[in-house]
Amino acid sequence: MSFCILRVALDTPLDSCFDYRWPCDPGSEPAVGQLALVSFGRREVVGLIVGVGHETDVPPEKLKDALAVRSQLAPLSGQWLALAAFAADYYQRPLGEVALPGLPKNLRVPSTVNLDRALKKMDKHDAVHDATPISVPVLNGAQQQAADAIGGATGFTPILLYGVTGSGKTEVYLQACSQVLEREADAQILILVPEINLTPQLEGNIRARFPGVMLATLHSSLSEGERMLHWLAAHQGRARIILGTRLSILASLPQLKLIVIDEEHDPSYKQQEGLRYSARDLAVWRARQLGIPIVLGSATPSLESWHHAGSGRYRKLELRERAVKDAVLPRVRLLDMERDKPKDGLTSHLIAALRQRMDRGEQSLLFLNRRGYAPVISCDACGWISDCTRCTSFMVLHKPEHRLRCHHCSLELRIPRHCPTCGNVDLQPLGRGTQRVEEGLQQMFPEARILRIDADSTRRKGSAQAAFDTVHRGEVDILIGTQMVAKGHDFKKLTLVGILNPDTALFSQDYRASERLFAQLMQVAGRAGRAARNEGGSPSEVLVQTRYASHPLYGALVSHDYDRFANTLLDERRGAALPPYMYQALLRAEARELAIAIEFLEAARDLGAVEGITINDPIPMTMTRVHNVDRAQLLVESPSRPALQAFLKEWIVALRDMKSRVKWSLEVDPLDI
Ligand code: ADP
Ligand code: ZN
Ligand code: ZN
Repeated sequence: MSFCILRVALDTPLDSCFDYRWPCDPGSEPAVGQLALVSFGRREVVGLIVGVGHETDVPPEKLKDALAVRSQLAPLSGQWLALAAFAADYYQRPLGEVALPGLPKNLRVPSTVNLDRALKKMDKHDAVHDATPISVPVLNGAQQQAADAIGGATGFTPILLYGVTGSGKTEVYLQACSQVLEREADAQILILVPEINLTPQLEGNIRARFPGVMLATLHSSLSEGERMLHWLAAHQGRARIILGTRLSILASLPQLKLIVIDEEHDPSYKQQEGLRYSARDLAVWRARQLGIPIVLGSATPSLESWHHAGSGRYRKLELRERAVKDAVLPRVRLLDMERDKPKDGLTSHLIAALRQRMDRGEQSLLFLNRRGYAPVISCDACGWISDCTRCTSFMVLHKPEHRLRCHHCSLELRIPRHCPTCGNVDLQPLGRGTQRVEEGLQQMFPEARILRIDADSTRRKGSAQAAFDTVHRGEVDILIGTQMVAKGHDFKKLTLVGILNPDTALFSQDYRASERLFAQLMQVAGRAGRAARNEGGSPSEVLVQTRYASHPLYGALVSHDYDRFANTLLDERRGAALPPYMYQALLRAEARELAIAIEFLEAARDLGAVEGITINDPIPMTMTRVHNVDRAQLLVESPSRPALQAFLKEWIVALRDMKSRVKWSLEVDPLDI
């Protein structure tokens, strides 16, 4: 018996690859891409074999034997390893920290999982997918052109599918998928969606449309067992359509031939902790690596994608009209809150419009992106307000639950009976959240069926789905909700959207705030008027309550002019040297005291400047304190991506060598700065 040396990547910080000895005969060595069980410190852990050879720098007396190699599982492909290596390299993380968490937990636990039993379950799993086929809508001209362009594309072809809300983008994806699946016997297609819980219709649609084709979903609300089965189905090439959230971009897909990213502008494609990757950006990289087409669909594309479409790097396909015959985009009107003073948060115009919908038996949606009853309570007598004692933020009043809650650290308190400072018993809620609007509506429209949908009302598993079903069944007259209701839903009976209090985001320090606000408002406006109009019926309406009716953002919203608005924003970004004309990385530090975090960042800044790289001064984060920890950040910028990457590679080594006790993290292409 002779030996080989396995180089194994482990999920550990810093150096994540380690050598182990493995007894085996020549010619029967394990393969790169297989999983191995090894001892690491006092633990036994599963790692990924990234190299097989005969040499090592580890002295013989220190070299340990690997404990087992998981030979039932086909090795992860070289292409998959290259994707993990790219992500690790680009986001400045150790390989093991990128490659291993992407695998299902059951493959990563030391106890040898019985893969055979797993595999048996899969056979049953397959059988479930025999749904009855349903009729396929005839595409309109623009849809057909788009579907053919996508379905027929060969080689790396990034496509921006820019289609107004309700233009039938989903149908385009499905028919393009169908072309690819028919043409290539074992092709796999990856469809990414922002939040799977908000798109249950899509899953059902796919099952019905592709009977006999196995669909695997991959998202964070699967159980570990399900996750494992679905992951394996993808890895073995048995699942041909994979529908998932951002984490599925790291799935093993040996026959991947097309990637679809629905609502590509959605911020939830960005992972906000750990490996802070952009699933959209990784998807584009993966498509280029494999030489396959990728579709980025949106009514309000991200400025990054819009920029690429403008410069010709992405091909732009447009759907200018709604797909349903006689359905038209809603008429958007601005309601001046200075002239028409709101009562319970609603102007008389909006109240009249709600009344009209009630009389006609149509549905209305009120959008307010603030949950809770009121964002803060205060004492008129002494000026006390309900600060969170642990964060730079307020305790939000949750009236139905009789609680004050901090949305950042989850601190909960009973509502105080009197002012903690002066004893005044008359504490007042300030401002308005969804609960308070709901309460006002119930008084104004006692006969209406009112439903609130926000993170509080949908905490239980499955309750969001149940709530949306109630709306689709027409059992709701007035729906009030946060951004949860803005995304993707095809509410057929909705003819009025009221937007409450969007102004605050106009004056945010965040340079992306107006891009986000505009996308959000266009998306929520797009929920109205999705069905064919009744005989002689008036078009559906979007009413925006604002104090800044002359703001250009609202002007663009009224004219449904995403093009012009996006171009204006891009001009501003170019002028101000901001992304996508600038590449950024953010170093964050956390400490008990702000001064300590700042001191660390100053030391990091002083590690040395490089030409072409701007290292800004450290600043406290806008929300400085969360859960008794102070946070500060340092922005690094360059107009050249390769220059920034080269700098970060050296900088991160120096940062680690500082061996600071301050907790820090580096984020490449940050969204929130
Ligand atoms: P988007 O994602 O672009 O907002 P959807 O894909 O949700 O739009 O489609 C909006 C509505 O139009 C859906 O009810 C869908 O079934 C319908 N639809 C799509 N294409 C067609 C078509 N060619 N003919 C008729 N209805 C269609
Ligand atoms: Zn007081
Ligand atoms: Zn708090």
